[in-house]
Parts: sequence; structure tokens; C-alpha cells
Amino acid sequence: MTALGLVGMPLPALARTDVRRVRMSVDGGTTRLVFDMDGEAEYSMFHLQSPDRLVVDLENARAVEDLTISDNPRSAIKAVRHAARNGSDLRVVFDLRKPVEPSSFVLMPAQGAPHRLVLDLASGEAPAAPRSAENNGSRRGRSQEDLRDVVVAIDAGHGGHDPGAIGPAGTREKDVVLQISKRLADRVNSEHGMKAVMTRSGDYFLPLRERIERARKADADIFVSIHADAIANRSVQGSSVYMLSERGASSEAARFLAQRENQADLSLGGVPINGKDDSLTNVLLDLAQSGSLEASNTLAERMIAELHRVGKVRKPEVERANFAVLRSPDVPSVLVEAAFISNPSEERKLRSTTFQNSLADALLTGLRSYFSTHARPGTLIADGQPDQHIIRPGETLSGIADRYRLSLADLRSANDVRDDRIYAGQVLRIPRDS
Ligand SMILES: [Zn+2]
Repeated sequence: MTALGLVGMPLPALARTDVRRVRMSVDGGTTRLVFDMDGEAEYSMFHLQSPDRLVVDLENARAVEDLTISDNPRSAIKAVRHAARNGSDLRVVFDLRKPVEPSSFVLMPAQGAPHRLVLDLASGEAPAAPRSAENNGSRRGRSQEDLRDVVVAIDAGHGGHDPGAIGPAGTREKDVVLQISKRLADRVNSEHGMKAVMTRSGDYFLPLRERIERARKADADIFVSIHADAIANRSVQGSSVYMLSERGASSEAARFLAQRENQADLSLGGVPINGKDDSLTNVLLDLAQSGSLEASNTLAERMIAELHRVGKVRKPEVERANFAVLRSPDVPSVLVEAAFISNPSEERKLRSTTFQNSLADALLTGLRSYFSTHARPGTLIADGQPDQHIIRPGETLSGIADRYRLSLADLRSANDVRDDRIYAGQVLRIPRDS
């Protein structure tokens, strides 16, 4: 940039383009947005996931009215916000109900209509995926058929020629973490609205990048890597949950930008980024990463809360580290160190079916709690007709009864709850009158 050359010189007064309003209409699966403007404006747009958003940047433009749209549940748009950017640009963010395929064009003034920027958002949802048919009897209305399961990528650490850490009695990390991962995958698969994808299902080596790639190819909503810790001091015990550090995120951003030069089909949150300039790609990365880090932190916190029930937790806070396997910029990712394989008593626990099962139960409860607040629109958990309710942090039994217009007594008896003690992630059956 040559901004220095302008020091001391008056900047040319560029006329801003005024954006007067945004109009929305819905036709079948397509939502049309029209920006009415008093002139032309260069624009760019991109799509972000978790949650789904469409971002439109207009250069040298401003909103002269508060941009609002009417609430239409059939539209792809939930809400709109806007803000000035870089002093002279306008950024408009649309919160989406579901993923969309956006296309755009501009219209010059004609027949009394002003300059217009038109965005057509085609509902990006594929027709009912085959996996919905396997979802054993859990579907209820027709409207449910288009909804998908959330996908949990489960990554058993190490494998093949890489045994991971080895316990004092010879237990290999790669074996116990695979067993725990399979137990977790079974639970996820029998859960309403969830589906597991394992990065490895046997004893073979998988490079770290390949683990991330497998999760991304499966359109994973989240990524959970399972490991067992080891340290020279054999008395150290307890589980930990890690997320990517800010430093790891920024070094990944640099790698991502470099990789973009050599890879034409690279995409971010579903948006192809080839041909986009560095600053735009940076903005995209930044938004995707900050969303993912925030979601990773929530997931890690909810898992830690559950791990307290099954054993010692080494640190109550979420730990941050620069683990390569956590670096997907757009998939919230955590790494669970289940216990210390270097500690003789935890090594024994890691081998035991009882401990493996309670660990898998705890992680599943953490997942339920996470998805109760973070499932993306278009999933059964977010939009399905509930005959079950997953308790969120802070909810009370009487509040839940009110929400479903039930008496507290009916809710208690349907769930065999004797006292009113409930916990986040617990699943309640919601009785329906037939
Ligand atoms: Zn490991």
C-alpha cells in the first residue's frame, strides 16, 4: 500500500454511496435480497459457518437508514446487522437459518427504481440424505425429513507404528484411546440427531493433516481427539481438555494463506477462497477462527464439567495448546487427555471397561450439552420437533414444564424424576398427548 505517499495531502472527497434499504422476498427455496442504493458500489460477499452467516462488504458506502428486514420464517434470513468498516466501507451481516448458495448481480436505475444490488440465496440443503433412513425410528413428522444429524468426528490418537505413550505396565495409548473412541462413537450413533465419524477405526497410522481432512470431508460439526497423557512424574493424575491456542490459530492462518497459492479448491466454511485477495481471505479466516475458538471453548468447558463426575480432572480450566490436529479453522475442535497412562492406577483404569464406559458417557453428556446451545440450523437437534429436551445450563424443571405447557407433575412422572435435581446435558422425555 502507498498510503505514505499521501501524507500531508488532502484526500480526494469521494462521494459515498448511500444504501437506503434492504428488501427481502421469498420464492420457494430462494430468498432474494435487494439493496436499494443511490449509486454503484464495489462489493464482495462470503459465507461463514457455525453459525451460518452471509457477509456482504460494500466499498465506500454507508447505510442511511437502519437496515431491517421483516421476519419471515420461510426465508433463509434470521436477522441482519450492519456496521461501518475501515472508515468508509459498509459491512452487512445476515444471520442465516440454514446454509445457502448465494449468487448476485447489479441492476442500473430503470423505470424509477434506483441502483440495486440483488442477492439470491438458494437453500443449500441437499435432499434428504440416505443416513436419515437409517435413523432408527426416531423421526416423527414429514418436516423432519430435511433435517440432518449433527456430525461428531472422533479421532483416536496415534495408531500403527506410532503407539503413543506407553504405561508402566506396557499399556499402549493407541489401543486404549481407540477403545474409548469406539465406545463414544456407539453412544453418539444411538443418540437422536447425532452421527459419529471416526478418523481411524483400526490400528493404523494416520498423519495429523489427514485426520483433519477426514473430518472436513465428512462435514463434521465438531472434532474430538482422544488421547491419554504421560509425564515423567508417575504420581500425576487426571484428565484435561485442550483447545487450540491463539498462537496456534495465527500460525495456521499463515499456513492457510500460503497453501491457498497452490491449491485451487481450498475452501473455508464452504466458501471457495481461490481468487479472493489476501485481505478478504484474512477477514474470512479471522471470522471463522474466532467463531470456532469460541465454540471449542464452550465444548471443552461442558466436557470438563462432565469429566468431574467420572474421575479426577487435572485442571478445572480449558487448556490451550498449539496441537496440529486442532487446527481446522472452521470446525470447533477439542483434544481430551482422558487420564495419565504414566500413573499406574490411571493406567489400570484406562484399560477397564467400566472406566472407558463412564468416560464415554461423560463425553456424550458434554456433547449433548454443547449441541443444546450450538447445533446449527437445519439439524434435528436445532430444528426438530422435540419429544425430548436436553437440559441447558441454568434451566429449571419448572421452567422446562412451562415451556412445553406441561404440569410439573406430568414432567416428573414421565421421567421418573423424584426430586427436582437436574443437570445440564440430561435428557428429559417430553410426554405428548396423543
Ligand atoms: Zn497422545
